[in-house]
Amino acid sequence: MGVVINGNELSTAMREQLKERVERLKAQYGRAPHLAVILVGEDAGSVSYVTGKARAAEQVGIDNTTIRLSENVSESELLEHIERLNENDGIDGILVQLPLPKTIDADRIAASVAPEKDVDGINPLNIAALWQDREGIRPCTPKGVMDILHSAGIRIEGKRAVVVGRSDIVGLPVAKLLLNENATVTIAHSRTRDLAEITRSAEILVVAVGRARIVTGDMISEGTAVIDVGVNRDKETGKLCGDVDFVSVEPKASIITPVPGGVGPMTITELMWNTAECFEKRMNR
Ligand code: NDP
Repeated sequence: MGVVINGNELSTAMREQLKERVERLKAQYGRAPHLAVILVGEDAGSVSYVTGKARAAEQVGIDNTTIRLSENVSESELLEHIERLNENDGIDGILVQLPLPKTIDADRIAASVAPEKDVDGINPLNIAALWQDREGIRPCTPKGVMDILHSAGIRIEGKRAVVVGRSDIVGLPVAKLLLNENATVTIAHSRTRDLAEITRSAEILVVAVGRARIVTGDMISEGTAVIDVGVNRDKETGKLCGDVDFVSVEPKASIITPVPGGVGPMTITELMWNTAECFEKRMNR
C-alpha cells in the first residue's frame, strides 16, 4: 500500500511558514510582497486557478492584484500591461495565466515578463538559468514535485527516475531538477516505444501528460514513488482525475500523489514562495 501524500496538508504547513516569513519581510521593508496576475478571457479553469491564487496570497499576507482582460485583447495591449507592471516598483511578481488565446504569441509574452519578477519561471533567461545551474526563478509545478519528494523522505541521488512528458513548463524542468539531485533520468513522450517497459524501470515516476489514467498498475514496479501531475476530467463522471490510474497503482507504489489534492495545491504554494523570494531579492538589490 502506498502512502498517499496529502498535498493540501503539506501546502498548509508550507503556507504557515511562509506567512511568518512574509510578516518578517513586511516588518523589515515596510510593505508586503505584491503579486500581479493577468487573466485573459473567461476560461472556467483559468478563472478558478486565478481565484485560488488570490486566496492563497491572502492567506499568507501577500498583496495581490488581478488584472482581467477581454479574450479579444491584442498582443500589443497585453504587452503594454506587462511593461507597466515591470516598471512598477511596488509590484514584485507577475504571473500571466496560461493558456492564452491563440492570437497571442505565448513565447513573446513569457519573454516580456521582467526576469526578476517572473514568479512562474517562464522567461527564457530563467529557463536558461535552470539548465545552466545558475541562480534564477524555478517554475512552480516542478518545484512542488521536488518538495513533495523531499517531504516524503524519498532519496533521489542515484535513483532511476522516469518523467513522462517533456513540456517546457513541467516535464523538462522536473527532469532537470531530478538530474540536479543526481537521479539517473529518462524522459518519455508521445513517441516513446513501449512506455510500460520504461515506466517499470522507474524508482521515481513523474507523470505529466494530460491523459486520464494513462499509467496503470501493470506499468510500475513495486515500491515506486509516483507523482501524478496530470489534471483531467473523467469523461463518464465529470470529476477531476490524474494521469495515473490511482486504484491499480496505489497498492504497488511507495508513495503516490492523488488528483485532486496532490501536486495542484503545491503549485500555488510554490508561486507564493517565489513571490516572497522575488520581493526579498529586489529589496536587497
Ligand atoms: P503538454 O500537453 O504541454 O505536454 C504533454 C506531454 O505529454 C508532451 O511532452 C507529450 O509528448 C506527452 N505525451 C502525450 N501523449 C503521450 C503518450 N501517449 N505517452 C507518453 N507521453 C505522451 O502538457 P503539460 O506538461 O502542460 O501538462 C501535463 C499535465 O499536467 C496536464 O494534465 C496539465 O493539466 C497538468 N498540469 C498540472 C499542474 C498542476 O499544478 N497540478 C500544472 C501544470 C500542468 P510530445 O512532446 O511527444 O508531444
